[in-house]
Amino acid sequence: VESYEALQAAVRWDANGLVPAIVQDAASKEVLMMAYMNAESLKLTVESGETWFWSRSRSELWHKGATSGHIQKVKALRYDCDGDTLLVLVDQTGPACHTGSYSCFTGEVKVGALAGEAQASTVEDRFAMLGKLESVIAQRDAERPEGAYTTYLFEKGVDKILKKVGEETAEVIIAAKNRDKDELRYEASDLIFHLMVLLREQKLPLDDVMQELDRRHNKKK
Ligand code: AMP
Ligand code: ZN
Ligand code: ZN
Ligand code: ZN
Repeated sequence: VESYEALQAAVRWDANGLVPAIVQDAASKEVLMMAYMNAESLKLTVESGETWFWSRSRSELWHKGATSGHIQKVKALRYDCDGDTLLVLVDQTGPACHTGSYSCFTGEVKVGALAGEAQASTVEDRFAMLGKLESVIAQRDAERPEGAYTTYLFEKGVDKILKKVGEETAEVIIAAKNRDKDELRYEASDLIFHLMVLLREQKLPLDDVMQELDRRHNKKK
């Protein structure tokens, strides 16, 4: 919809005048948190381009990041088929959760047949590994855990990351020249990892790269 008024009308507010808003990282697509909006917080969100919620425990408007500095810049605001849930895609500054973790959804229960299943056993699973790696990198970027190499890269900044991409590229070339497959496997992994750290630093989702590859593939057919 075009206007805030039309959006307001499209939302099916609950008995308390609230609607749940799921917040997703626009780049990594990780689900970060869920909170409630009332009409006023939705209006503030649309107008300011940063997330505002309604705190049910404190009964007050809540500008996410007001105290922590962990604000969320809104990239897209969607609502579902029956208008009872909002989806907010954001550029997240720091961790989304007040506990300091990247996402609020850190609790996990193993379900039924999936419990104990070997991970990344099929080719498809192994490619899905790139998505998991993207999530871990986004998490490191948000949480900056001490001692983590990815934290070190983000703290050093873009020039350090670019230098590593250059170095790892050279190492891939040397391994390939030497026809050393073990070395190549190792260096190619280094390069992909550092390239993905660079994509995160530049806020370019891996999915955009995949879509570009897909477009080229479909053009050739
Ligand atoms: P912040 O908005 O990040 O400055 O945090 C202010 C307060 O909002 C915190 O003390 C929490 O009570 C609450 N809060 C922040 N982030 C979350 C979240 N992801 N889920 C639930 N409550 C939160
Ligand atoms: Zn719904
Ligand atoms: Zn949380
Ligand atoms: Zn290397």
